[in-house]
Amino acid sequence: MEVKTLSHSDLSKNPVIAQMGLNNHEQILFCNDNSTGLKAIIAIHNTVLGPALGGTRMWNYANEMEALNDVLRLSRGMTFKSSVAGLNLGGGKAVIIGDPKKIKNEALLRRFGKFVNSLGGKYITAEDVAMTSRDMEIINMETKFVSGLPENMGGSGDPSPVTAYGVYVSMKASAKEVWGNDSLAGKRVLVQGIGHVGQVLVDHLTKEGAKVYINDISEERLKLVAEKYFAEVVSADTMFDLDLDIYAPCALGATVNDDTLARLKCKIICGAANNQLADEKIHGEIVGKQGILYAPDYVVNAGGIINVYYELSGYNRERAMIHAEKIYDTTFSLFQLAKKEGIPTYMAANHLAEKRIEEIAKINAVR
Ligand code: NAD
Repeated sequence: MEVKTLSHSDLSKNPVIAQMGLNNHEQILFCNDNSTGLKAIIAIHNTVLGPALGGTRMWNYANEMEALNDVLRLSRGMTFKSSVAGLNLGGGKAVIIGDPKKIKNEALLRRFGKFVNSLGGKYITAEDVAMTSRDMEIINMETKFVSGLPENMGGSGDPSPVTAYGVYVSMKASAKEVWGNDSLAGKRVLVQGIGHVGQVLVDHLTKEGAKVYINDISEERLKLVAEKYFAEVVSADTMFDLDLDIYAPCALGATVNDDTLARLKCKIICGAANNQLADEKIHGEIVGKQGILYAPDYVVNAGGIINVYYELSGYNRERAMIHAEKIYDTTFSLFQLAKKEGIPTYMAANHLAEKRIEEIAKINAVR
């Protein structure tokens, strides 16, 4: 995929379609409804592999440009994630502009559902920041193009166990690359964020005999997980100075940055959080130069989208878990590609994603 650049003056005169051209976005739907106060943007990045699937995020953006940039960036990320995971899905995302506590209600969500429906299945929505499974049920009143519904509605329910399993197998593939075998027994692993995904990851790691350190901003979660798994609690001030083998970011993005890279002494970074590299081009390079193997976040955490994908064809958790297990091979093969091409691992992942899309685009052209 060709990547272009635009000058500031180009962008101020042509803020929308020219921006779409930067990363070849296919379509954007701008949604407005005065009666409910709905203001939303649905971005479809690429549908070569299938319908564009990606969550709806609700956020009090400072302005429309910020919302547009976010939805363009996130929808492209979904294209890459689904492609590398081997799913027949394209990339899309939606953002609803506004404070969820103030404006989110049934009418607004149903109006949004009507907009999703107007795309006729080209975009399938799901949960993201500030949206709940109950919100998805409401959107589902107006459109069938919703995934990630609760299990009691025939949906796939909480994806976190599948995501955590994907992170775990990805970590094992990373260990194989670094130490020649994939055992995590005795390895010192820091799990930052022990929420839905982090806790299940701690469970896998403990069962395999890893030495697990945990950090979270929630005292309650720390107490619960430390007692259940005999994990060692570490403070935010000291955790990046520990002698570690593996750092697993499972809370927030951008934790691989100038500050943490100056302190981290681990050999592997592999976790569930999205957008772990503060600046992909800068920190994706530095990490490798420091002798740390970075397992690209969207490859590692694809269990969530894999889980939702299987909901589209009648949910079966076993099939989702079998597919998530393939993340091991994908992770390992992208490390080989990175070495062969002499490029950072994040770039190798992007190349894998683009290659599959280009190949399938060619066969799609055959009648
Ligand atoms: P969660 O909200 O259940 O857990 C996040 C945990 O991180 C919470 O316990 C929270 O207290 C903690 N946390 C927040 N800020 C922190 C900080 N500054 N330092 C330490 N801990 C902090 O979320 P989750 O579902 O477990 O997801 C974890 C990450 O993985 C998120 O970044 C999410 O976007 C990503 N992810 C999740 C899934 C999934 O299936 N749930 C799929 C793909 C990606």
